[in-house]
Amino acid sequence: MLLNPVPLLKDRLYHSDTFTFACHEKLACFNLCCRNKFIPLMPYDVLRLKNFLHIHSDDFLAQYALYNLDKDTGFPIISLKMMEDEHKTCPFVSLKGCNVYKDRPTACRLYPLGRASGFKEDGITKDEVFFRMDTPACLGVKEKNLKKIADWLDEQGLNIYIKFNNKMRNIVFHPKRNKERPLDDQQVKKIMVACYNLDIFKDFVLNPEFIKTYNINKDNRIKISKDDTALLLLGLDYLNTTLFTNQ
Ligand code: SF4
Ligand code: SF4
Repeated sequence: MLLNPVPLLKDRLYHSDTFTFACHEKLACFNLCCRNKFIPLMPYDVLRLKNFLHIHSDDFLAQYALYNLDKDTGFPIISLKMMEDEHKTCPFVSLKGCNVYKDRPTACRLYPLGRASGFKEDGITKDEVFFRMDTPACLGVKEKNLKKIADWLDEQGLNIYIKFNNKMRNIVFHPKRNKERPLDDQQVKKIMVACYNLDIFKDFVLNPEFIKTYNINKDNRIKISKDDTALLLLGLDYLNTTLFTNQ
């Protein structure tokens, strides 16, 4: 079972597989792909972008994110809000390229590949596959530059993103989640605060009551207050241990 999209068997690629791709300003398509796209934002994507922009997570979500619920699981699906211009342009694209390149989201780093991650039928063995996106207008895929997927992940700084995205996957596929029933409002709120709205979550966890209940020592308290990646790790761990206790 894989978190969507699920590629056909024949389209599945693995770390040692190769693909051709090069993206550069000389291509006629340069920048044209950064418009009218569904770009999912995972918790770590939001962390990197809001810190790059030096804005509060609440303001980031209000200004740059779209919020939907997955109809089967009830999990929130956060995506990048395109502008309301004629082309539905990404708010971060400029004539020179991506203005948030250093902190661009997972989907933009992976492009022209997609990644599906989940568990095999036994519910225990992790499953991860890559696939070529359907990108007929992208001239970059016709370039002769051969890439190995494992090298692409390194080159694009994807390993840290995948590490955090996998932690979110573990929550979606949590063994205690009731697969027959979508999440309720309280569970959705908890997810939104603990891993998407980190600046609000920080106030929540630095509250003496939470510190006591969750047994957070002084060193961790200092780390959490200064380092958003430590805060997100705590948020994901908090979800992992508390989200499905009443199901
Ligand atoms: S975030 Fe950057 S790479 Fe991604 S769609 Fe926007 S401009 Fe393009
Ligand atoms: S369409 Fe492909 S080659 Fe062209 S700018 Fe986008 S990613 Fe690069």
